[in-house]
Amino acid sequence: MKGLEKLKKSPISVSDCTGRQKGGFDRMLIKQKVIINKEKCKGCGYCIEFCNKKNLAFSAGYNQKNFLYPEFTDRENKCNSCALCALMCPEAAIEVYKEK
Ligand code: SF4
Ligand code: SF4
Repeated sequence: MKGLEKLKKSPISVSDCTGRQKGGFDRMLIKQKVIINKEKCKGCGYCIEFCNKKNLAFSAGYNQKNFLYPEFTDRENKCNSCALCALMCPEAAIEVYKEK
């Protein structure tokens, strides 16, 4: 529950909740409050599977490690910043920020 308590504060980073270190976010895809570092992605698909808004899908191309990575499917503010994608990512490739 501690992680959920932190999620209620703003702004927060899910990597902070999980104790993972930030960094290496030089190649980022940004939509609103969700940041995907495609170069950290290893293509497991957990974030896509667990997105309750079906807002993520695999990319058409590959990252530098030859993995497909998640991209947003909707450009019309579908994401609700639930942070499930970031919590499920084993590579800490996603960060979600809450707006004040
Ligand atoms: S924060 Fe939630 S709704 Fe937004 S992309 Fe991630 S899992 Fe989907
Ligand atoms: S959960 Fe992480 S490693 Fe897996 S596809 Fe999504 S961003 Fe890539």
